[in-house]
Amino acid sequence: MANRHGRYIEPMMSLTVDFYVRLFIRVRNGPSICHRSILNYSSIYQCVDCEAFYNQPLGREITEVHKTDSATGKVKKYKQQGKEGQKDAAVEEEKNDDKVNVRVALPRVTVPSQCTVCDGPLTIGGPIWNKPIHNVDFVKRLMGVVREQKEVKLGTSKRIQGILTGIIDEQPLEDYPLNYDFNFLCSSLKTTNPDKRAFVFAIKQLGYNAIQTYYNSALWKTNAPPEVLYDLFKVYKT
Ligand SMILES: [Zn+2]
Repeated sequence: MANRHGRYIEPMMSLTVDFYVRLFIRVRNGPSICHRSILNYSSIYQCVDCEAFYNQPLGREITEVHKTDSATGKVKKYKQQGKEGQKDAAVEEEKNDDKVNVRVALPRVTVPSQCTVCDGPLTIGGPIWNKPIHNVDFVKRLMGVVREQKEVKLGTSKRIQGILTGIIDEQPLEDYPLNYDFNFLCSSLKTTNPDKRAFVFAIKQLGYNAIQTYYNSALWKTNAPPEVLYDLFKVYKT
């Protein structure tokens, strides 16, 4: 909606509490950034058998740096691929003497053709917002205000602080928008629920991370690929 008017949104905090969802966003002017908003969205490919899922960004960012050789005056072009993407739109800026051009390109397919856990077929969902849904600096400032309570006295201060702490704790995985339901994993794999500390230790030993979400103790975010996560759960098979 904001893009139609040459504006874009910046999520400050996105809450799910009890039975409602509440979004706090900042709307900014910036037609050039609007052209890059496709980078904020992904399709989700999910296995119909085991519910493992894969993120497919809808765009790809390419940064071109045009460097001028001070001796010869010749311009050389260097390309860098971003995590996601961009194509027709162009944002240009001068950086020292170098000219930086950021483009949006069509995405490369990053998802497998079938589930990497059980070889099951995948179904497509989305698009979803794939960027961070909180501005953690803002959340930290908010935490300071709630703790001091100079302007207002809140009866639910403790609960608010708990939610804000949870959001701040999730920051290391803020680029991972979705989560796994560990209860579902245990029931589908017929395993016992892993000890939380042992599980986090094991996943970190493998070079990944896992964090419990603040809104549901059974829902966890992780940057581990589905096959790694499922293999870890199979250790707890009874
Ligand atoms: Zn599967």
